[in-house]
Amino acid sequence: MLQLILDELAKTNTTLIAVSKTKPTKQIMQMYDRGQRIFGENRVQELLEKYESLPKDIQWHLIGHLQTNKVKYIAPFVHMIQSVDSFKLLEEINKQAAKHKRTISVLLQFHIAEEDSKFGFALNDLVELIDKESFKDLKNIRLAGVMGMATFTDDMDQVRLEFSLLKHIFTQLKNQYFDNSPHFKEISMGMSGDFRIAIEEGSTMVRIGSLLFGGRN
Ligand SMILES: *Cc1c(COP(=O)(O)O)cnc(C)c1O
Repeated sequence: MLQLILDELAKTNTTLIAVSKTKPTKQIMQMYDRGQRIFGENRVQELLEKYESLPKDIQWHLIGHLQTNKVKYIAPFVHMIQSVDSFKLLEEINKQAAKHKRTISVLLQFHIAEEDSKFGFALNDLVELIDKESFKDLKNIRLAGVMGMATFTDDMDQVRLEFSLLKHIFTQLKNQYFDNSPHFKEISMGMSGDFRIAIEEGSTMVRIGSLLFGGRN
């Protein structure tokens, strides 16, 4: 399955984040031995345990909601934090990254789904974001793009619309702020059930769990 997905992604230059949440290290090592180096986790405690026991050349992406007071635990090693949904969090990541003399890549998570349970900046925040110059001064973070999750639905037209909205948000931010930044280039969208649509709508990073590792309880 891994190779099939990688072959498909290679045609479009899309990066695979293998979402290993709830899965044992043994299963992660099977992917690792086949060459996969980028893994995603959504809980800090689980991420820490897996970081400790697995090879250090794995690039860990945090994809779940992050509380400000937990940033310090992952700041020494995390490769990218995809789920940044407040300025407070952005500032804390910057501070903790500086302590470790690191630069941490982050994505701004936007709430594009219909459900109100999901985290992320709301569309209204975009205006504020565009007005805010201060986040450009955070020297120890690298703003690498945006992330979003579509509504959990069978209505693929709706999913497509939500992905195109995220692409639009990305383009606005890019034009406004990051035109000269080689780093602001990622649109993280698409999971097991909708990654093909996401790629058609401009995804550069898909986060695939169950299709690779099997279903979760
Ligand atoms: C669990 C999770 C995924 C992967 O979901 P699958 O449907 O198993 O591919 C992707 N993104 C986030 C933020 C997740 O929490």
